[in-house]
Amino acid sequence: MKLLQASGISLAFKGVRALDNVDLAIDQGELVGIIGPNGSGKSTLFNVLSGIYRCDAGTIHLDGAPIGGLAPSRIAQRGLVRTFQNKRLFGSMSVLENVLVAALKSQAGSPLGDVFGLTRSKQGMSRGLELARRCLDRVNLSSLAAVQARDLPYGAQNRLEIARALALEPRLLLLDEPAAGLNPAERGELRGLIEKVHSDGVTIVLVEHDVRMVTGLCRRVLALDHGVKIADGPSEEVVNNPQVLEAYFGDVQSEEASHA
Ligand code: ADP
Ligand code: MG
Repeated sequence: MKLLQASGISLAFKGVRALDNVDLAIDQGELVGIIGPNGSGKSTLFNVLSGIYRCDAGTIHLDGAPIGGLAPSRIAQRGLVRTFQNKRLFGSMSVLENVLVAALKSQAGSPLGDVFGLTRSKQGMSRGLELARRCLDRVNLSSLAAVQARDLPYGAQNRLEIARALALEPRLLLLDEPAAGLNPAERGELRGLIEKVHSDGVTIVLVEHDVRMVTGLCRRVLALDHGVKIADGPSEEVVNNPQVLEAYFGDVQSEEASHA
């Protein structure tokens, strides 16, 4: 059985087909990349899989059980967790507190109401703190635990976003452009982090604009263009696929034209 099986996913926004009959199957233990030009539907696909958007058509199963239409918090409880391209950190809270919120949510096993119950119980709080500290350690942020999230360097904010996701104890982690805006050193560090999380047993789907990073990390890659899956296979094959090259090359040309 596939860990994740999404079939025939379609979603339109006011006539724009953001996703057009997309099939996606992920096995337990995979590290799969998704590439595609800007606007090709990558984030929308994550939004559908994680329950933020409801698709117009299609079915989604996690471990064989349907999850389509469930709330994002319910889907996260079942083990599918995503990070956001635009990070959703609490700027005025410390790094540790940001992760603690997620850790308490995961311990409560249900939406926010119980989080407050848990903070009242000493045992729940100390378990949450322990989990939060472990997650910070995994992303190499322990030394910055007391810093306000908004004061973190950009690359560290990306790692904090991942720590928050890890605190929900995912089996399937969807990463949306975690390397965006990072310098080469930060990219290298992020790459090591993704490899480590994967080797700890977390199945990962990585949306990333940096094709070299994707081919370096992922054995299998799929490509989207205008909401359509145009390739799905071994990474070297997919990035050299003429249709994929055209999707990117066409994109570059039109960007050049728009700057002319
Ligand atoms: P990518 O992540 O690949 O850059 P997106 O999934 O963000 O692309 O967007 C795919 C298409 O869907 C784009 O045309 C985008 O403008 C459109 N889109 C995404 N989200 C919305 C929304 N909430 N409302 C309207 N259009 C949207
Ligand atoms: Mg996106």
